[in-house]
Amino acid sequence: MKKVLILTAGFGEGHNAAARNLRDALELVAPETQVEVLDLFESTYGRLNSIVKTAHLGMVRYAPTLWRGIYSLLDHASVGDSGVGGLTRLRSALDDVLRVTQPDCVVSTYPAYAPVIKELFRDHSEKPFRFVTIVTDSISVNASWHRAPSDAFVVANRPTATVLHHAGVPAERIYPLGFPVSPQFAAPGIQPCPLEDDGPIKLLYVINHGKKKCGKVLDRLLENERVHLTITTGRDAELKAELQDRFRKYDGRVQVLGWTNQMPALILSHHVLIGKAGGAVVQEAIAARCPMVINQIIPGQETGNAQLIQQLGLGTVADRNREVPGLIEEAFAKDARLWREWRANLMKASHPDAALRIAELVLRQCEDSGDWSKFAPAPLKVLPDASAPTAPAVVDGTAARRALLCDFHIHSNYSDGKLTVPELVDFYGPRGFDCICITDHLADPRRVIGKLSNLSNLVLAESQLEEYFEVLDRERRRAWRKYGMLLLSGIEFNKDGLTKKSSAHLLGIDMQMPIASSLDLPETIAQLHAQGALAVASHPHVFKSEWGKNTLYLWENQDEFAPLLDAWEIANRNDIFAPVGLKRLPFIANSDFHKPKHIYSWKTLLQCDKQPDAIKDCIRRNEHVSITLYREGGLLPVTTRVARPQELVEKVARPLHAVAMLQAANV
Ligand code: ZN
Ligand code: ZN
Repeated sequence: MKKVLILTAGFGEGHNAAARNLRDALELVAPETQVEVLDLFESTYGRLNSIVKTAHLGMVRYAPTLWRGIYSLLDHASVGDSGVGGLTRLRSALDDVLRVTQPDCVVSTYPAYAPVIKELFRDHSEKPFRFVTIVTDSISVNASWHRAPSDAFVVANRPTATVLHHAGVPAERIYPLGFPVSPQFAAPGIQPCPLEDDGPIKLLYVINHGKKKCGKVLDRLLENERVHLTITTGRDAELKAELQDRFRKYDGRVQVLGWTNQMPALILSHHVLIGKAGGAVVQEAIAARCPMVINQIIPGQETGNAQLIQQLGLGTVADRNREVPGLIEEAFAKDARLWREWRANLMKASHPDAALRIAELVLRQCEDSGDWSKFAPAPLKVLPDASAPTAPAVVDGTAARRALLCDFHIHSNYSDGKLTVPELVDFYGPRGFDCICITDHLADPRRVIGKLSNLSNLVLAESQLEEYFEVLDRERRRAWRKYGMLLLSGIEFNKDGLTKKSSAHLLGIDMQMPIASSLDLPETIAQLHAQGALAVASHPHVFKSEWGKNTLYLWENQDEFAPLLDAWEIANRNDIFAPVGLKRLPFIANSDFHKPKHIYSWKTLLQCDKQPDAIKDCIRRNEHVSITLYREGGLLPVTTRVARPQELVEKVARPLHAVAMLQAANV
């Protein structure tokens, strides 16, 4: 069985899309191949990474010129020839991963990995695997892509191949196979959208975040009676509602959609795509032979994409958004002469089956893979943690690390829970919990439901947030002193729409400070990550037990949110969400505690040190995580406790607990 390791990074778009689509293609072409997609920046840089990512998103949106500066800085930075410098941790993580997985072929869709691989294997005459780089940029290719060697460079088009060749990459290593778009574009029978004489002109208008002022442009497009318009608003539900209202008068000629994972089908059914020059979307438009009118470019990383459209005549670029209607008129004037030219050029430039061709290339590379037997496997690393309390670790004569009993979703009377924070500590502490997180509801005031709940006292008020964090902080110290129990601060962000599909609840776990309630979900997640907290989807699937309103937005949009979230609730109180397990998403299980009887419910068990960072890391990696249905007295005999006998005598109400704990303590 061949093993392929695909390395990616969630910076900007394009890298992850390329990695995912290649994985899908490999699964189609050679289902027996073992394929792993990994983002080592996500897994080794942790907090730093999320800060970089937040900064990146923020900069792209608000200060494109600043971002261009940083992008060219990267171009000359130490990532390439002068060694890997600050990337030592990436290097050691990659070394471990390679030695553990021993792949036949490594594919990289992000430029930072190649120099590290060069560094790792420079002392050996031969590296034991083949290395393929998929360049996700077009034309304006950042030099870090080709400074370090690859056995094969896959590029999206001829002009990019020429750029690479001029930069010194040998021609026989350059494969202009196309950008790996979803294999859906290459499904049998797929045809680009035909244009009929005097028939409708179907335009797909993709609104990007932060570009809300497009109403006038859309009205002008609709002045042409032939124009049928599909608008996607992404995750902005308010904008969607607003536009739906505004365009009702056009009676069937306008369709407003929110976020969709049906992009390939949508692009395939339209004549022109109007939107920004994002790496993935431009390549999807080309694959669908759908001409593009670009109305926004992020300088640096997207410049090349726009150049590509212009240079190959696959559409055009509007300097300002208000020029778009004029450009559309021009394209369809004189029996759509210009549009037909674009379409003809697209027929030549398009590689809808690129992912499949690249999969074949990767499989051929696997045949020539080297020999791992010369290389020692990675040693098993045991990371001692001096700050963690040491627990007696012998049960039944075998060394066993005890699992931590945890509940990360608990409401106090700061929102709709029955118990106060101190009461919660004295409730969970004697029951042997190792870690709990209190997560009171915070409603989004921009949403109707949020406005209503803010009137009701059943959610945290923004003005109470400071006090809430102070109380949790005080109780944190008492919980640790008295019960050896970690208390984490958290919030459940209620993002409720009018329907279950537009509603989401998001847990922030181990927060250091409040976050504004009015941010949208991706921004909330980014801010949670920036402060080192976890972002977890609460009750993401359909409740089977009678209580509770379903909140399905995150699940419905998991393509967008799975890469952002640290975990999903696989169980909430008495409900188990089997699809979370089937999709192999990272999981935890929680009580969603509101009153004492809710303690009899699903909980998380973690095998890691009893320390906030170790706990969060364990959840992120989702190794040594299991769930248990809590019943009093049922769990403790198989685990061992951090024993404080004097406290046990004082505090433990139930004799069964006391016996179990003391036995363990005496081993
Ligand atoms: Zn909830
Ligand atoms: Zn809840």
